[in-house]
Amino acid sequence: MPWILTIPIAATVAACGYALTCLIAPDVPCPRCHGQGARRLPIGRTEVDCRACHGRGHRIRWGVRWWAGVRTGGRTDDLPDWID
Ligand SMILES: [Zn+2]
Repeated sequence: MPWILTIPIAATVAACGYALTCLIAPDVPCPRCHGQGARRLPIGRTEVDCRACHGRGHRIRWGVRWWAGVRTGGRTDDLPDWID
């Protein structure tokens, strides 16, 4: 097998793996609040909703959001509200 074929094969395997990951776990813990959904303000003990995940504690993977956009023809207003 010519070595140049390993590049598209590796890309296909990576894309399939990512698609599978999106199917199994479409959301990931929010990196900003570490899945807590809230952030403690630097001053005092006040907690506020995390702005990155809107207090949900998780974020939708890029691939899931992209696929939802493809399915709806790029109209983001029709997307489910769990996709931000
Ligand atoms: Zn968050």
